[in-house]
Amino acid sequence: MPLHWRTDAPFAGAGPFLPHGLGRSYGDECLNDGGVLIRTRSLDRFIALDEDRALLTCEAGVTLSEILKLVEPLGFGLPVVPGTKLVTVGGAIANDVHGKNHHRAGTFGAHVEELELLRSTGERIVCSRASHAPLFAATVGGLGLTGVIVSATIRLRRQPSPRVDAETLAIRDLREFFDLSLESDARFEYTVAWIDCLARGRHLGRGILHRGNPAQEIPPPPRSSRRLAVPFELPVSPLNGFTVRAFNAAYYLRHRLSGGTRRVPRDPFFFPLDGVDRWNRIYGRAGFFQFQCQLPPGAAEPGLREILSTVAAAGEGSFLAVLKNFGEATSPGLLSFPREGSTVALDFPNRGSRTLRLFERLHAAVREHGGRIYPAKDALMPADQFQTQHRRELPAFRAQLDPAFSSSLWRRVNPGE
Ligand SMILES: Cc1cc2nc3c(=O)[nH]c(=O)nc-3n(C[C@H](O)[C@H](O)[C@H](O)COP(=O)(O)OP(=O)(O)OC[C@H]3O[C@@H](n4cnc5c(N)ncnc54)[C@H](O)[C@@H]3O)c2cc1C
Repeated sequence: MPLHWRTDAPFAGAGPFLPHGLGRSYGDECLNDGGVLIRTRSLDRFIALDEDRALLTCEAGVTLSEILKLVEPLGFGLPVVPGTKLVTVGGAIANDVHGKNHHRAGTFGAHVEELELLRSTGERIVCSRASHAPLFAATVGGLGLTGVIVSATIRLRRQPSPRVDAETLAIRDLREFFDLSLESDARFEYTVAWIDCLARGRHLGRGILHRGNPAQEIPPPPRSSRRLAVPFELPVSPLNGFTVRAFNAAYYLRHRLSGGTRRVPRDPFFFPLDGVDRWNRIYGRAGFFQFQCQLPPGAAEPGLREILSTVAAAGEGSFLAVLKNFGEATSPGLLSFPREGSTVALDFPNRGSRTLRLFERLHAAVREHGGRIYPAKDALMPADQFQTQHRRELPAFRAQLDPAFSSSLWRRVNPGE
């Protein structure tokens, strides 16, 4: 059901209801099997821009891409962006998304000053850290379960140019990732590593570290960039151990040889996949699963070793293995995913029971090392993992739930609800 106006009350029928942004979440968190999806994309209006205070108020269906287009020519940027700009403000808040600068800026929710929430009773509540604080904390990272966010005020950051002075460095193994990340996080606003998840033995964790700082310049006029597209869904995925191994080796070599600092445009640095339309088709009709976990500081290295060894031994790795350290910032949401430590994200083509068995081993490794799984990227985590990773926050979260709201993920991880 589409929501066109902030004053609409879209709660016809029995529900349960779930807000939907652009559906960029990877699993069933943005789905509501048998229920009603409230489509928010038509809430796409800007409401106010206070340049002196760097505050932007907009409706929740506005995309991060639209915000960047508006504010960059005025010398502003968004303080946090995920790996795609094709997400809505509502979706970015409901997952409290993180970006390559988590160690400096924390999560997206940390920059939300206030938001307006529509509850299934028709009540509209403006909440912030100062007003209705428990509802604010449950809604940021709240998986769309506390009501529909209809608008939000976001603190922008001043930045002269959207371009980045970027460097790439080869990482020989996992140990070097930790050493280089520590040094890089102190000097660079953005850091992220790509890991060759099929490398084994002494090469385990080999990859490329990307790091960068905002360019201090008067930006050149934007150029239109050509977008590639995957034209149709392939009947089977062309990704197999051989093609992925060849791609990973070539990628590693290319970047290892091309080190040095370059001034690069915003999109290829922050949003590489947005340049390829319907990139998900490369996984074929059976699709793919993503796995993203966080591991606490003390457990990060042994935990990552186990996860990467499991993936390499299974020969199932994707070419998109992304590794990053989260900083110390406390996330503002009760269920926000980011916590201090390390996070790794991997894609796996869906090969049926083989893939499911691999996920069981990965989930066991996360459990053993006291880690957490990112609901935005999940379709398979067992209910007890969700209950364990949120055991402290769930009672306070449940107290703020909108009883008419639910999702496929929520029912999966709370059997019986
Ligand atoms: C290529 C790619 C790269 C990504 N990189 C990152 C990354 O680096 N970091 C990161 O954190 N995430 C990343 N993501 C995940 C993505 O940022 C999140 O899943 C985001 O929440 C998707 O937003 P959406 O608008 O598509 O929301 P949807 O996927 O439609 O919904 C996501 C959740 O938000 C809720 N929701 C949506 N709108 C509202 C609203 N108005 N009110 C209340 N709840 C709402 C939904 O109910 C659902 O629970 C990436 C995704 C892709 C495809």
